[in-house]
Amino acid sequence: MSPQPGYVSVLLDTPLPQLDHVFEYRIPESLSGQIEVGSKVSVPLRGGTRFSDAYVTAITDKPEFSGDLLSVEKVISGISLLQPQTLELARKVADRQAGSAIDVLRLAIPARYVRAEKSFLSSEIPVKVEISSQAVKPAEFSDFTVQEGQKYALKVPPRLAETQAGKTIPNWSQLFVGMAHEQLIKGKSTIIAVPDFRDIELLELALNDAGLSQYFIRVDAKLSGQERYLNYLRSLGDQPLIVIGNRSAVLAPAPHLGLVMLWDDGDHNFEEPLAPYAHARDVALIRQSQTNCSLLFASYTRSLEIQRLVELNYLSEVDVRTTQHPQIVLTDAHLEEGETPSRIPAAAWLGAKKALENGPVLVQVASPGFAPALICSSCRERATCQSCHGPLQLAHKTATPSCRWCGQLNASWKCSGCGNSRLRPVAAGTERTSDEIGRAFPGVKVIVADGNHILTSVPAEPSIIVATPGAEPIAHGGYSAILLLDGERLRGREAFRVDEDVLRNWSNTIALAHSSATVFINGAGISLGAALVNSEQILWAAHELSERQQFRLPPAVRVVSVTGPAETVRNTCDELPNLSTHRVLGPVGMPDGSTRALIFFEYKDGEELAKYLRAAVITSATRSKRPVSPAERGGRVLRLRVRFDDPDIDAL
Ligand SMILES: [Zn+2]
Ligand SMILES: [Zn+2]
Repeated sequence: MSPQPGYVSVLLDTPLPQLDHVFEYRIPESLSGQIEVGSKVSVPLRGGTRFSDAYVTAITDKPEFSGDLLSVEKVISGISLLQPQTLELARKVADRQAGSAIDVLRLAIPARYVRAEKSFLSSEIPVKVEISSQAVKPAEFSDFTVQEGQKYALKVPPRLAETQAGKTIPNWSQLFVGMAHEQLIKGKSTIIAVPDFRDIELLELALNDAGLSQYFIRVDAKLSGQERYLNYLRSLGDQPLIVIGNRSAVLAPAPHLGLVMLWDDGDHNFEEPLAPYAHARDVALIRQSQTNCSLLFASYTRSLEIQRLVELNYLSEVDVRTTQHPQIVLTDAHLEEGETPSRIPAAAWLGAKKALENGPVLVQVASPGFAPALICSSCRERATCQSCHGPLQLAHKTATPSCRWCGQLNASWKCSGCGNSRLRPVAAGTERTSDEIGRAFPGVKVIVADGNHILTSVPAEPSIIVATPGAEPIAHGGYSAILLLDGERLRGREAFRVDEDVLRNWSNTIALAHSSATVFINGAGISLGAALVNSEQILWAAHELSERQQFRLPPAVRVVSVTGPAETVRNTCDELPNLSTHRVLGPVGMPDGSTRALIFFEYKDGEELAKYLRAAVITSATRSKRPVSPAERGGRVLRLRVRFDDPDIDAL
């Protein structure tokens, strides 16, 4: 072995934003030959008494710094855990979001397990195996293949498919497996990112069914820490793979990456809640431009962000249509003038009754529990929690009223308006609806599926499944009817993207129906109703986006929230660099004592604004150098925090 050059550059594993750049250290003779680019080491911080973990980003024989350098303390892992492309990706993502590269790497590289590392190192390097698989794309996609380096937005027709073992899966999962298989044959890896564990299980089923079980790895949080780390080590090798996971899968290493696919990018699970808060869609776009792989966003609907990129010709649009669709009936349209809409319209009841002869029927309601809201039985005031003023609910028919926000039981509730102590339920959750349905259809099995009753599939037998949005199980062969009951309640929520979310959820739910089924929708309203009946989700998105353009709201423009002490936020907003057109809303006081401002700005100004805000964050962090305990802080917010593309802009 040639003698190791004597110096390393490292990226420190520290949350301090002012340390987010490379530092140089000397390699002591005792560690010579043990360090690679990407290794994890421990290094002393200035002063030499405290230590930090760090990733080695370069090894040189001549440092750039001319003064004395401290020495690496020890090697934590000699394996090259951080690949140069991953570092480059993390840097780009962090710069776009005004964050630290190490925060991105913490999402990309799982916690280390010494035992997993040992067993990985002692295992034999697998010989290259021939790909033997029967993976085929569903017939409607047989003409669709991705070109190298091309980017696509695909609208998938809602249809169910069947595995060779006879299991029902949505057609998109079969399409994704077929696409990944095409890449494998070319010796290339694929990354598939999906919203949640149900989607991962579906993919796993489809991959195993296609005979690809030895070619894919999961990188999601449902795995044990050991498995996750072992899979990470596998992804550092040279063999092409199919990597499946949730939002952070888009950061995973993948040898010879050929294709990145996201299913249903509008799902809120793709929003990263940890700094620097990069949305998986944006990370995928950066990854594509970095590696020139192919990129596919597929969904039953169209997110406004993707519609924008289609209209800019940044993505190619693929709209695959089939002739077989479930029939969609808007039950609001059947009301006589002056008639108040009943919760379960007569047409839907009759439809459900008839459909039960053929198989399971899905009933979707807005909330879990018995009654999601309660009012005073005498004066009709909304009942709120005695400790936090949140809304009260009944989890079961005989339960004690509890708070939906803080969970506190409110056994001795008294109306603050009239002093009465009797409550009245106002809406029906899954439990109350299943009670009602049980009485209306005696002898039929009624099953609840919501956040408290997790169910991923149901057999093809007559039964009624009462589910909340997003918790609907897949019925073998598809549902013979679907009733979407709480349109008005779902659409009445005060959220910026509420219609988009409802359209997306309903389109996903409709895809669970048998192609000969009827879907009844209550309270869809005119524009969502038309989009669903005519399968014109793209048209709806285009129209919605044009309104956002008119009002200069995201995603027609970008937004960044700036949170922190009032004075810092004000100064930061006052001294903004020269941007083309922008708008500052606020600053306003937040419930936690901090102050928040929203800055709406043009995409082309993103880089400059991120640079400016990053500098402001670092200034704010270095001013309060000394670590402060939560008790000492007393609830005050001491530092500036920025969140680009903040999804939570409803509070203003
Ligand atoms: Zn009252
Ligand atoms: Zn409460």
